[in-house]
Amino acid sequence: MALVFDNSYARLPEPFFARHQPMRMQKPELVLFNAPLADELGLDHEGQSPDDLAAMLGGNALPDGADPVAMVYAGHQFGGWVPRLGDGRALLLGEVVDVNGVRRDLHLKGSGPTRFSRRGDGRAALGPVLREFVVSEAMARLGIPTTRALAAISTGDEIMRETLLPGAALVRVAESHLRVGTFQYFAAADNLDALRLLADYAIARLYPEIGDGPEKYRLFLEAVIRRQARLVAGWMSIGFIHGVMNTDNTSISGETLDYGPCAFMDVFDWGTVFSSIDAQGRYAYGNQPNIVYWNLARLAQAIMPLMAEDAEAAAGEAQGALDVFPDQYEAAWLAEMRRKLALETAQPDDLSLVRDLLVAMRDNGLDYTLTFRQLSNVLAPDRSPDEMPLPIALEPWIARWRGRLAGERTGDAAARSAMKRINPLYIPRNHLVEEVIAAAYDGDLGPVRALHDVLAEPYEERAEHARYALAPMPDQVVPATFC
Ligand code: AMP
Ligand code: MG
Ligand code: MG
Repeated sequence: MALVFDNSYARLPEPFFARHQPMRMQKPELVLFNAPLADELGLDHEGQSPDDLAAMLGGNALPDGADPVAMVYAGHQFGGWVPRLGDGRALLLGEVVDVNGVRRDLHLKGSGPTRFSRRGDGRAALGPVLREFVVSEAMARLGIPTTRALAAISTGDEIMRETLLPGAALVRVAESHLRVGTFQYFAAADNLDALRLLADYAIARLYPEIGDGPEKYRLFLEAVIRRQARLVAGWMSIGFIHGVMNTDNTSISGETLDYGPCAFMDVFDWGTVFSSIDAQGRYAYGNQPNIVYWNLARLAQAIMPLMAEDAEAAAGEAQGALDVFPDQYEAAWLAEMRRKLALETAQPDDLSLVRDLLVAMRDNGLDYTLTFRQLSNVLAPDRSPDEMPLPIALEPWIARWRGRLAGERTGDAAARSAMKRINPLYIPRNHLVEEVIAAAYDGDLGPVRALHDVLAEPYEERAEHARYALAPMPDQVVPATFC
């Protein structure tokens, strides 16, 4: 079966997008392909050669029913307002209803210049495409809502960055590519009809349970806030740093969107920043909840004109929806952290228990991911040989935690295995990602494929994967990412 398209976004009126064809690729080659995701989409790939798949998904031989458009949006980038951004190097190829009945965007990133390219070349380099493929798929395996990666395709062209690099494109799959910035674009243009159409479209597509009542825009805002609170709580619980939380990268469907300079934290510190363009640390690990709140306030502001006739009443409603966020976020985050520590019940002191663990990690320079695995091993005598013991300084905290665990119905053995099912051992650490990108630039795709395979099973310890679990040695640390 071929992909069956039904392109609802492209049926919206003209100001929502610009029609474009993808640029022709010199020599499209399939670098990575996600067969399980292709199956979900109903794409029959078994009978097709890798070159045919690359030609089809990369745009040289688009499938019937694709109708590529560049979506328009605005956004706050690092806090500064940009009235028009839009897909400058990507196209929405179309939408497919998957085998579960979920409508999903097929999006090609690195597809050549569009009306929205500004000074950019419309291209993507192989490294960032591989980073997005590997990290977004790892996120999905870790249970975090995210856009997915269907294929990485090298174009056969060279593109100009700091040096000449091989060009590539990513075929990305999402529940939608609507962003906070999409709403901001029409709000800033005072185009109330388009704004209403967009909101109705988003509700029908992503939040159909809201229905069509008089309160629907407030309910919509509340629903987006809820999903984003849960999303960022998920990021924080696994030590993920998005790196470029501009409002155009904040998704209405609550998926992690735009893997540019993202990274996983090694040593725990709230101030951790990887992105080379985030000199002020605006998007530091510990700032992410505040930033998403700020971005959601921009969404609230954008859709306020739809919420009530009277401006003051609309502002009150919007503020009311936003006011819920801090508690909602903290509850979602604390629930994740309890699960990481095998705490099934909720107790009043849990917040301070978790915070004190984080402070101890920071003060002792501990690796965030491995500390939870090591804590699980404290509960049982058979320590695995690869894992280093925790420092003495953590012992008072461990005693406190074990006291707290003693009040739970779960025994130590069950708590230990529960912790191993939720605390990953294998994450896309920055030094590993950089290493496989460097190999790919040298023409060796084995390492990126191997890393992708390891990350598909993040929890189950395997002796042959031991090196992937390790925190970087001081000389391996990659402190900066570039997008
Ligand atoms: P980002 O920081 O990745 O969210 O991108 C912000 C904006 O810049 C979006 O409108 C992108 O489409 C655009 N953009 C990023 N890189 C390029 C490029 N190489 N060529 C054209 N537009 C780009
Ligand atoms: Mg973006
Ligand atoms: Mg980007």
